[in-house]
Amino acid sequence: MPDERLPFPESLCHRCAAPPRYVKTASSVFILCPLLPQKYPPQPVLKCPLFREKPGSR
Ligand code: SF4
Repeated sequence: MPDERLPFPESLCHRCAAPPRYVKTASSVFILCPLLPQKYPPQPVLKCPLFREKPGSR
């Protein structure tokens, strides 16, 4: 379940089996995708060709 403190709660990344990593700084949380070459896709990700639903995320 997406944590409401995470950025962009509507982002597909939170439900993705990639899985993304959350990189925390003092002021922000960044979503690092392990599959995309650019690593930090523009958020919120609403469509992604590499998205696969994480088991148990619904
Ligand atoms: S594959 Fe797509 S949906 Fe999954 S974490 Fe990466 S950018 Fe987000």
